[in-house]
Amino acid sequence: MKVSTLYAPTLREIPSEAEIISHQLMLKAGMIRKAAPGVYNYLPLAWRTLKKIIQICREEMDAKGGQELMMPIIQPAELWKETGRWTVYGDEMFRLKDRHSRDFCLGPTHEEIITSLVRADVQSYRQLPLMLYQIQDKFRDEIRPRFGLMRGREFIMKDLYSFDKDEEGLEINYWKMYDAYCKIFERCGLSYRPVEADSGAIGGSGSIEFMVIAKSGEAGIAYCTACDYAANVEQAELKAIEVPAADVKELALVNTPNCRTMAEVAEFLGFEPEHAIKTLAYITDKGPILALVRGDHEVNEIKLKNTLDCLFLAMADDIVVREQMGSEAGYIGPIGIKEAIIVADHTVMNMVNTECGGNKQDFHFINVNPVRDFKPTIVADIRQIKEGDPCPHCGNPVATARGIEVGQIFKLQTKYSKALNAVFVDETGIEKPIVMGCYGVGVSRTMAASIEQNNDKDGIIWPAAIAPYHVVIVPVNSKDNRQIELAESLYNQLTAAGVEAAFDDRDERPGVKFKDADLIGYPLRITIGAKTLEDNLLECKIRRTGEVRYLKLEGCISVIK
Ligand code: ATP
Ligand code: MG
Ligand code: MG
Ligand code: MG
Repeated sequence: MKVSTLYAPTLREIPSEAEIISHQLMLKAGMIRKAAPGVYNYLPLAWRTLKKIIQICREEMDAKGGQELMMPIIQPAELWKETGRWTVYGDEMFRLKDRHSRDFCLGPTHEEIITSLVRADVQSYRQLPLMLYQIQDKFRDEIRPRFGLMRGREFIMKDLYSFDKDEEGLEINYWKMYDAYCKIFERCGLSYRPVEADSGAIGGSGSIEFMVIAKSGEAGIAYCTACDYAANVEQAELKAIEVPAADVKELALVNTPNCRTMAEVAEFLGFEPEHAIKTLAYITDKGPILALVRGDHEVNEIKLKNTLDCLFLAMADDIVVREQMGSEAGYIGPIGIKEAIIVADHTVMNMVNTECGGNKQDFHFINVNPVRDFKPTIVADIRQIKEGDPCPHCGNPVATARGIEVGQIFKLQTKYSKALNAVFVDETGIEKPIVMGCYGVGVSRTMAASIEQNNDKDGIIWPAAIAPYHVVIVPVNSKDNRQIELAESLYNQLTAAGVEAAFDDRDERPGVKFKDADLIGYPLRITIGAKTLEDNLLECKIRRTGEVRYLKLEGCISVIK
């Protein structure tokens, strides 16, 4: 590539809207430009790097038996209604209607689509296991798109889905993907850490996030320096403990009349909707514990005070709360409540599948009697783990850090196959739901995370495997034809030898070319100046270390390669 024709409009100033280094550098280096909040153009340099990350993902998925396909971005609402996620997904889903007023969304993820694909064509255990993946744009109307590519509303994801006949199969594929993810992030030159995760809105049980440790990370992680324990702080909150129901003393209710999703409930209460699932922790941290109820019933008393010692939370039937607990939705009362959670002190109770007698009239919300009205099971302690707290595995004090989530793997089990009736007939002729897993890599976020970890005051320092070009050739004096000719010939030879080279043929001062070379972050800079002409020596500067080596012109291609 001749730099004179390269479409990489570099900037001298740091654009004010960019808060974090990767965003600043990608704008400065002419890699990305914003089209709308959270929506970006990838310019040629960025696209070259993205294609390399995509290719690394592809190779590692293929190596584990993954088969690449391409699913539609536009997805029909019907499938999402079958799993209940048309409502659960809330405002993060981009929705649209076609000319016949049929509802669609722009795919934020593809469990519904792929499960419906497989349910139609997989009937027998002989067709399993199956691992299918795609690399595609995803759409999420993030409440706070920010940090450039870190939290976009349109972003590139590699998503693989595994289909097995049993848990053992899932276990094998899950760890295959774990291994593949380690390889992907290693090949991308990232220092990362797998942490225990909460399976969030995707559902299922068993999940690991791959975190790149960085100050700008939006996720909190806790890790032990003495053993290998590491968890997302949100997951670390969910420590199972048993608390007798009798400890639940007082309840209050808040009706959240028009709220359809957890995010709306959170908003109604003045919490950040994007942290809806975290609301519980937030509330208890603040001291007061309160109750939320939403349903199509009347609540005739709203009582909210700071001295309550427990929290009652109940949601209407179209809402599934705390899916990450991996439980089946079940009714606890005649008003269509599927799940309820009680917090007593630092405790969350999950009352899924509990029996609750009575009809609409005699279901007690006010002065609920936990034993009479339902069997509370306390499943978690939501106290947030803090720096210095004992490690849940070995008791040594934990440390905390910020992390960028670049990938996540989930055991979905049968959550989607049951909801969508994706079944197969096993060896004994019995029909069973397919056991699933899903595995995502944020491709565009990975590029940003790599820059967060690899930069200095002058610009980006690409790891060779994902650098847009490996080498830049800079003739010092653009007026000196001998330098230009030598540079061009070297450029042609390197290109012919398969080295991805850029040739800075611009009529610019050397300072400008050097600055851009550092900013764009080519791993190697070859300078051709008077010394080259006199002594037949090439100045090679390694971007990462700043180390300068002189190479004999003769035979230099094989050394550079
Ligand atoms: P986050 O916690 O940051 O919102 P997520 O847990 O919602 O991410 P997943 O559903 O696990 O994301 O998606 C798989 C991967 O896609 C994530 O690990 C992340 O790398 C990437 N990703 C998710 N949301 C975004 C986004 N808005 N912009 C860029 N990449 C994203
Ligand atoms: Mg998210
Ligand atoms: Mg996450
Ligand atoms: Mg995730």
